[in-house]
Amino acid sequence: MIGWGVSILLLLGIIGGHLWWRRRYHSLALGQITEPAGLTDALRMTDMFTNMPEGVLVTDHKGVIEFANPTFCKLFELADDPKGKTVMEAIRIHQANELIERLREENSVVQEEFMLPNLNERFLQVNGVAIREKQGRHRGAILMFHDLTQLRRLENLRQEFVANVSHELRTPLSIIKGYVETLLDAEADTESVSHRFLKKIENHSNRLTFLIEDILTLSHLESGDTGLDRREVNIHQLVQGVMDGLREMANKKEVRLENNVPEDTCLFADSQRMFQALNNLVENGIKYGGACVSVCATQANGELDLCVNDDGPGIPAEVCDRIFERFFRVDKARSREMGGTGLGLSIVKHVTQLHGGTARVDSKPGEGAYFHLTLPIIKPEAEVAQTSS
Ligand code: ADP
Repeated sequence: MIGWGVSILLLLGIIGGHLWWRRRYHSLALGQITEPAGLTDALRMTDMFTNMPEGVLVTDHKGVIEFANPTFCKLFELADDPKGKTVMEAIRIHQANELIERLREENSVVQEEFMLPNLNERFLQVNGVAIREKQGRHRGAILMFHDLTQLRRLENLRQEFVANVSHELRTPLSIIKGYVETLLDAEADTESVSHRFLKKIENHSNRLTFLIEDILTLSHLESGDTGLDRREVNIHQLVQGVMDGLREMANKKEVRLENNVPEDTCLFADSQRMFQALNNLVENGIKYGGACVSVCATQANGELDLCVNDDGPGIPAEVCDRIFERFFRVDKARSREMGGTGLGLSIVKHVTQLHGGTARVDSKPGEGAYFHLTLPIIKPEAEVAQTSS
């Protein structure tokens, strides 16, 4: 929330500036200011209004617009300068009109927040100040519009994330608690029952550990301060390492692993991060796929397309766009049963983006899933300089 104090100070500055600016322009028009400093100051003031990140609107005592800066026009998607129109005619938002009425009638300062459903659900905070003459006669109003849309979206994302994390943590914890309570119950205390319950406790404790590890990885990747340790990486060998690590799991599920990446395929990348991304994709192929998971690579237009493919049930077309979202799962119960955290693909997307690439999935139900990581092959110039120095 933008502090009242700061907003009011800014508004008072704008009022002062605006009145001064108008006087200067009137004087200029009448030829009363001849010294170059006057012109420079007036231009500087115009510049300030033009480049302000907030929308500024000045109305006269009838609510007719005297001035609107470019940010205001952009916020309300106005093609023409609204000068000379009433606020209602210009933007058709009754809350803004009501605000001007309130400033005219009773208040000298108002603040309000509103959402504009027609303009991509934008959230705006408006601070308004009435301009009055010494005798108290109303001369007009100045309104300042802050676009809070991005801030609100981030707040919603954060709230959603906290709610999801709490839910994910609560489930294994309550299961662990249940088994411990049963174990403490004398009747269940036979060796085979104890062993079975302890196994369950171990599984769910592992799930908690994986979840916390994935949350930490993701928050590290999202914080943007993850420096990539980029080097020349042989992708064929990297995929081989991933497959070797997952061989036991694949054998248990009778899944064949195929590394079809040409042996000389190289990328300037952070091998640990790329390993993690490919590991998540191949592991998913084993968990949710069919009898075979393969990785191949093709190069075109300076990009390397890494494709992890399985012959499983695939992903419904309507969720392909959402599959990389945090905690998004097609089948929640199946994912949990497999020990999934719901964060694997989100990590894949972030790692790919950090390398300047994009991640997507192509899939038709029943025809398997094709996860593509498209990455630039060219070494970024700054890094070339660093490595060669
Ligand atoms: P999880 O930990 O649940 O595996 P991910 O982010 O790795 O989380 O995957 C999200 C969801 O995408 C999974 O729960 C699953 O429903 C779906 N999914 C991922 N990979 C595949 C695949 N190869 N085939 C079918 N569905 C998949």
